[in-house]
Formats: sequence, C-alpha cells, structure tokens
Amino acid sequence: MRSPGSGIRAPMPDPRLFLAQPLSEGARLRLDEGQSRYLATVLRRAVGAPVRVFNVADGEWRAEIDAKDRQGLTLIVRARLRAPASGPDLDLLFAPVKRDATDLIVEKATELGVRRLRPVLTARTIVDVVRLDRLAAIAREAAEQTERLDVPEVLALTPLAKALDGWAGERALIYADEQGDDPAQAWGGAAGRAAPIAAALHSVKGAALAVLIGPEGGFEPGERRLLRSLPFVIPVSLGPRILRAETAAIATLALVQSLWGDWR
Ligand code: SAM
Repeated sequence: MRSPGSGIRAPMPDPRLFLAQPLSEGARLRLDEGQSRYLATVLRRAVGAPVRVFNVADGEWRAEIDAKDRQGLTLIVRARLRAPASGPDLDLLFAPVKRDATDLIVEKATELGVRRLRPVLTARTIVDVVRLDRLAAIAREAAEQTERLDVPEVLALTPLAKALDGWAGERALIYADEQGDDPAQAWGGAAGRAAPIAAALHSVKGAALAVLIGPEGGFEPGERRLLRSLPFVIPVSLGPRILRAETAAIATLALVQSLWGDWR
C-alpha cells in the first residue's frame, strides 16, 4: 500500500498468529507444523523476525522468532500490545450447504464477529457430515487476519429441533424466514411474512443474540411452524428477493452488528 503522494510504501503489519498456550513476557512457545511452515516458508521470516501472537485470555503480544530447527519454529514473547477483549455474544446457527459456500459462511461470520458457529441439521439440509477441524482452521485463519482476539468456537452438527429444545431463553434467535405462513399476506403481518429485519432488530435489547439461516431448500412448513411458535424466536425478512444461504448469513450479520452489535 502507498501513502498518497509520498511514493513511500507503508510497512506491512507483522504476521499475526493465534496460540492457545498462555502468553506472558519471556515465554518460549513452539509453533505447530502449519504455523512454522507459514512463517518460515510462505512468509520467509528468519530468526529475530517480529510476530504478533494472541488469544482471548491473554490478549495480543509482540513476539519474535527465537529459534528454528527440524521440528519447526520457537517464538519468544516480549510485550503485551492489547489487553484481552471479546466482541458481542453472537451465535450463528446455519444449515451446512455445499462445501465452498459453507467455507464462505464460516470465514465471513468470523470477520463479522460471530462468537459461536453452530451447524444445524434441518429437514432439507443436503450435507450430513461436516469437517469440524476444517471449519475450525478456516475460523482461526480468518480471526488471525481480521485482528480479533478470540477465535469462534465451532460446535458439532446438531439437529435443529435439539438445538431449539435446549435453548437458553435469554438469547433471542433471529430467524431468517424467507416465506410467511401465508406468503400472499403483507410484509410484516402477524401471520404473513416476517417483519423487515431492521424493524425487528430495533426491539432486541438483550446482551446475547443468535441468528438462524436455512439450507438451499429453505425450511419445511413444520420447522417454520415450530420456529414461529417459540417465544425466543424473532422471524425476520431480508426483503422480497430470495438470497443464497451464504448471502443471507452475511447480510443478516452485517445488519445485526450495525443495529445491535459493535458497529454502533
Ligand atoms: N428454497 C428457498 C425458497 O425458494 O424459498 C430459499 C432458501 S434460501 C436459498 C436459504 C436461506 O436463506 C433461507 O432458509 C433463509 O434462512 C435465508 N433467506 C434467503 N432469502 C431470504 C429472505 N428474503 N428473507 C429471509 N431469509 C432469507
């Protein structure tokens, strides 16, 4: 990146890695194979090069590469750059879709500040196995890139009914409902289409929230009836066009952050 008019290149920020181990001044930490390869081979960093390391318990720290051997790299932690902090208590429940679209949902939800990623099995979900390790790696990389201090937790695939059954009532669930009980009814009517999302979010006051996005085929009538009958569920509309699940997730999360979360 160039500063306007100066012709001088702005320095690249130091690489940033999530480390689960406790971070403190003087700690020596061995990197795993993937992180060692990323720094040494992809970024071509040598002993002495600065690195930033972070986790939600200890915040973000300046570190440097201390040693390199056949097993990989060791870092030495120097000084704290940022105190521990985490964003809004926001969950995303989503029906897994095709692989690339699911990867996109996980990456963008992490950038948009989701704290827990909860894949749910719905009647029309076409995927019945999700690689949690793969989704966790995507979430970790997105968190490293996006400067947040925590990495979203990826929960196991759970049937939607079970997730709703065990619901902690104080967390409202914003349910992206592309239809109405009677789709011919007016937008925002009691029995017809759900209320526009912005109007619905203005009335949400709690400190914890969740969003639910359905699969390519949408929700079945029975699922929709169940969702609409639950007191903690707030059905919302994202307008007259049917969005792909990944677009719906990104659009909903952006609105949630701007009207309820940490974009205000
Ligand atoms: N097959 C469904 C149909 O044609 O009615 C569309 C499902 S859509 C591809 C996937 C999910 O995105 C939906 O289940 C819903 O959660 C969300 N979604 C998409 N468009 C929406 C809209 N206009 N309003 C509310 N939710 C929407």
